[in-house]
Amino acid sequence: MTIDLEALYIDLHRHPELSFQETRTAGIVTQRLTELGLEFEEGVGRTGVATVIRNGDGPVIWLRADMDGLPVEERTGLAYASTARGVDPSGTDVPVMHACGHDMHVTCLLGALERLTQTKDEWSGTVVAVFQPAEEYGAGAQAMIADGVLDRFPRPDIVLGQHLTPLPAGTIGVRSGTQMAASDGLTVLLYGRGGHGSRPHSTIDPVVMAAATVMRLQTVVSREVDPRDVAVVTVGSIHAGLKNNIIPAEAKLELSLRYPDDEARARVLEKVERIVRAEAAASGAEQEPLITTDHTLPPTINDVAATERLTAAFDGAFGQGTVVDPGMFTGSEDVSWFARETGAPLVYWFWGGVDPAAYAEASAAGTLERDIPTNHSPFFAPVLHPTIERGVDALVVAAREFLSASGSDRPEA
Ligand code: ZN
Ligand code: ZN
Repeated sequence: MTIDLEALYIDLHRHPELSFQETRTAGIVTQRLTELGLEFEEGVGRTGVATVIRNGDGPVIWLRADMDGLPVEERTGLAYASTARGVDPSGTDVPVMHACGHDMHVTCLLGALERLTQTKDEWSGTVVAVFQPAEEYGAGAQAMIADGVLDRFPRPDIVLGQHLTPLPAGTIGVRSGTQMAASDGLTVLLYGRGGHGSRPHSTIDPVVMAAATVMRLQTVVSREVDPRDVAVVTVGSIHAGLKNNIIPAEAKLELSLRYPDDEARARVLEKVERIVRAEAAASGAEQEPLITTDHTLPPTINDVAATERLTAAFDGAFGQGTVVDPGMFTGSEDVSWFARETGAPLVYWFWGGVDPAAYAEASAAGTLERDIPTNHSPFFAPVLHPTIERGVDALVVAAREFLSASGSDRPEA
């Protein structure tokens, strides 16, 4: 019996779940793993699942897929569009959609495991597959590691994974070195002294302090980062005060920072902190600002040698021109925790899910940004074919490239 991957994808797409709530999804995964006769553990890092195929001597290959949906109301108009709702951590009822393609990630990893199970006489080694929760919180990989996934399963010699992206279906995008940015989410509390709006001289106004801080933070990237480097400093939220004639006591800023590597991260964080403290001092604040890190994501750095090897394998399997360099993405991922914690190399690639004709048309018209929905859009709607097939094949080709060949496949034999 083979898994009907299209039906599986449609079912997952119809039933997206928020981060750390992927219980139905995990149940479908474990049901399939049971059918494949694989050993697994569930509830790893709350809702994660990990499984292993032991097949003799050879390297340990980790394949990773994330499982969570997003609080987005689907507007694709597809027959299998999601109408699901969920409750977010603040207790708010929200729409839920697989707007980042994690349903496709799960589908293709299950398809790849089935194929690897059926072809065990052609390879040897160990395959560990990780169905990770809560990628969208940047917390699921660390939750699985904290729950001992690296000790409960054979440690990786290489970590492999893939993400759906708005490239033409069939195309694979991968680059050596930094593939995705590192990211920090910071909260900054600025302390003033509250008072009557008619008597500003008796207060320390945190609204003005916050405004000056937001403006000055714009100079980090424009004046202090080398123009050849990539960095982002976004103040995504600013809150202070309740009423026009009250000067509040404090202001809160929430920042999203992005950088290509750990070195740039340290430099940008130092500049941001310097500006925050200096603007507070310039306002005469009597209390130092409080800066807290809400989340931190490492850069996703593809091992150079492994990426070259894999690119050649993809070219061999799918034909020259299949693999493109998509450049560095300023988005962030938590997949690389599995590699950083173990010192294993990582290759994380992207594969396309856009109808090639629609992509070519938008590309020719110069309207890609407008006409092709990106991840997290309510219109994000990958075509099913050949996206599913390419996603499965890419995982299998990648795993087989780094596993040992056996039997008649062994090149040395
Ligand atoms: Zn996402
Ligand atoms: Zn994603």
